[in-house]
Amino acid sequence: MKNDARVVVIGGGVVGVSVLYHLTKAGWKDVLLIERGELTCGSTWHAAGGMHTINGDPNVAKLQQYTINLYKEIEQVSGQSCGMHVTGGIMLAGTRARLDWLKMTKARGRYLGMELEIISVEEAERLFPLMNKQHFVGALYDPIEGHVDPYGVTHAYAKAAQIGGAEVVRHTRVTDLKPRADGSWDVITDHGNVHAEHVVNAGGLWAREVGRMVGLELPVLAMEHQYLITEDIPALKGQKEQLHCIDFEGEIYTRQERGGMLLGTYERAGVPWSPRETPWDFTQSLLPNDLERIAPSLEVGFEHFPALGEAGIRKVVNGPFTFAPDGNPLVGPIRGLRNFWVACGVMAGFSQGGGVGLALSHWMVDGDPGADIWGMDVARYGDWATLAYTNAKVRENYSRRFRIRFPNEELSAARPLRTTPIYERLQAKHAVFGDYCGLEHPLWFAPSAAEASEVVTFHRSNAHSHVAAECRAVRESVGLLEISNYGKFDVTGAGAEEWLSHVMANRVPKVGRIALTPMLNERGKLIGDFTMARIAEDRVFLVCTYAAEDYYRRWFERHSPPPGVSVRPCAMQYAGLSVAGPRSRALLQSLTHTDLSTAAFPFLSFRRMDVGMIPALVGRISFTGDLGYEIWVTSEYQRALYDLLVGAGAGYDLKHFGGRALNALRLEKSFGTWAREYRPIYGPYEAGLGRFVDPRKDGFVGRAAALEEKESGGKLRLVIFAVDAGDADASGDEPIWHDGRVIGWVTSGGYGHSVRRSLALGYVPKEYAGLTDGFEIELLGERRRATQQAASAFDPDGSRMRG
Ligand SMILES: Cc1cc2nc3c(=O)[nH]c(=O)nc-3n(C[C@H](O)[C@H](O)[C@H](O)COP(=O)(O)OP(=O)(O)OC[C@H]3O[C@@H](n4cnc5c(N)ncnc54)[C@H](O)[C@@H]3O)c2cc1C
Repeated sequence: MKNDARVVVIGGGVVGVSVLYHLTKAGWKDVLLIERGELTCGSTWHAAGGMHTINGDPNVAKLQQYTINLYKEIEQVSGQSCGMHVTGGIMLAGTRARLDWLKMTKARGRYLGMELEIISVEEAERLFPLMNKQHFVGALYDPIEGHVDPYGVTHAYAKAAQIGGAEVVRHTRVTDLKPRADGSWDVITDHGNVHAEHVVNAGGLWAREVGRMVGLELPVLAMEHQYLITEDIPALKGQKEQLHCIDFEGEIYTRQERGGMLLGTYERAGVPWSPRETPWDFTQSLLPNDLERIAPSLEVGFEHFPALGEAGIRKVVNGPFTFAPDGNPLVGPIRGLRNFWVACGVMAGFSQGGGVGLALSHWMVDGDPGADIWGMDVARYGDWATLAYTNAKVRENYSRRFRIRFPNEELSAARPLRTTPIYERLQAKHAVFGDYCGLEHPLWFAPSAAEASEVVTFHRSNAHSHVAAECRAVRESVGLLEISNYGKFDVTGAGAEEWLSHVMANRVPKVGRIALTPMLNERGKLIGDFTMARIAEDRVFLVCTYAAEDYYRRWFERHSPPPGVSVRPCAMQYAGLSVAGPRSRALLQSLTHTDLSTAAFPFLSFRRMDVGMIPALVGRISFTGDLGYEIWVTSEYQRALYDLLVGAGAGYDLKHFGGRALNALRLEKSFGTWAREYRPIYGPYEAGLGRFVDPRKDGFVGRAAALEEKESGGKLRLVIFAVDAGDADASGDEPIWHDGRVIGWVTSGGYGHSVRRSLALGYVPKEYAGLTDGFEIELLGERRRATQQAASAFDPDGSRMRG
């Protein structure tokens, strides 16, 4: 083994070898993979090898497409067969709701270029004669599903990487990692040490242990997973290879394995494996079978596919593999650790391994993943994702793998975990809560405790009329919203303005003022949207998306502030309440001596003031697009502030509102939000944020690319549609059609209660931005007429907000 390498990749499972191959492909040849046993000896060797393109996140789906298309390439480069069987696949729906979900999935696949097809049960039976059609109502057909040989794929990647210059060392265990002052690493192994500029944790089943070597607790847990292989089935003899099949009702997947069928299941009572530590002596090992645990799924499976029940069982495999709490991979650099990267929590290595390797290698070589991988960025989890939290969420995710996630569905595991001081008070008002980074926040308020739960559906739910009443209150009198779940940073020090001016695209406001600003990467793409509120010459309060706090912190580390400037995340220290609506000023004025008239405290003002006895930071700004205020207090004051506002609010018809109403209200104003309208695939001019970029300012990150985009106009435009939606509004990722062609996609949608229209924000090529007619948005399989709006649906000139 060499003593020095540019990169050491730890782990020779399908993910590690993919990272290795992609690094060589990106031009880094001096790369070394260290594997403690044989390649594949973790969870890779016993995988069923199934591959598919469908994923709830379209950006992850794209990387899955990439992975499947990559196999031919690595076969060619390496000369090693991947054992590819592209049989095509069907997903069977046993209920109308599931068929609706499949129609949505098909629609979402359209702008990704997926050729998915909804087929009848009869057609499904023709394609897959093993099924008993009486249990199903329809199916989705995907021509590029199939399976590969895990051993072949792993060795093809490894050989291709070695041809590209990489070295692979086996039977060598990394036992420790020691950082050097220059950001490089000493990789300590049981066969000597290697000095590496970069280290990649692709430890799979041992990713937690490798993480712990550097003080990192990764939110990863292994689950036991079983599949069985039947004896030969006479009906298959002489036939074309059977399709892959997913039966959602049985929570099982099947495919042909030689003359028999392989049947695997994601059972509801899934069992974690080695929840705290993975034993190092678990090499090329399996776990004892537990057919009893999967018996309920097998029973359904044998009823739905009688031939499988009639065949004997030839072999049962029970092996562990890892998941992150939401089931997507954990990829990227780690905040606080220089040159340390992770590529783990990959639960579908044969669908996702290629995409993970591609994104990570770009990130390491070019400083940017080159694609929108927010859905698998390790930074989406903060310290709150503890071992026990991960355990609860992974078990939930595993048990729900083949269940529908409705657009209005909130999951119940690990809750309530984080609550704000007014949680019980909101409960007493019959709040229905959502979970956001483990934090409870009100979604809407029911009139009574008995009604405080939401029916999950693709259509408008029982919350609809209550959310309508909340929106009405905001537009007609005054609404109260908890906003503690926003992210916050306190930037202090004499150089605060200069540093912010460098990382943000807009000019830092004067003391007492607020400015909105995009944050751009070097390619001029959106990596954040912030509100900068200047409290003093040397203090700026930033408000942003809490879910992206670690993502931002990692970026701030990369563009580190100069000595004397402190950038302190303080999301949970400051709790917030917002009052919005035409009577919000009068309400707040009744509680403070500070003059709130527009002359004295105009739109986008920000000031420290007392509200009753409570010291608060108050900004005149509201995401509702109405007259409104955001009030920030250190958490110990939040209850008192709430009681004060609610007490005084009685005289102003104050009504509580929640996240659902806020979403409707911001859509009425065409306001975008992070991870929906604002993502690293869009530029600020495309996203309609160009007015918040100050090109006169020198030297901010992404300036050159942003100016180029300004000049060229970019490619896309964020636009708003009114949709003839029936009773199912858009929720995001639906295709936008024009004159019979898919030309764009929805980023978010909902019903605008105060404008009485179903609305959808989405991106279209800029040439379509001025057009009104000819558009359709596909909702639950039906193309619905959509009319592009020239201006926001509510208060297009902003007089309400500014007045
Ligand atoms: C029963 C079963 C069926 C499955 N079916 C499918 C399927 O059909 N399709 C699909 O896509 N996926 C499937 N999977 C999941 C798939 O196996 C995983 O997604 C994939 O194997 C993850 O690969 P990995 O490289 O991340 O991890 P691993 O395969 O666990 O690889 C990690 C490697 O790192 C090495 N390592 C760890 N620590 C060190 C260290 N300190 N020093 C040196 N080496 C180290 C380990 O020895 C190991 O080889 C299945 C899994 C199971 C258990």
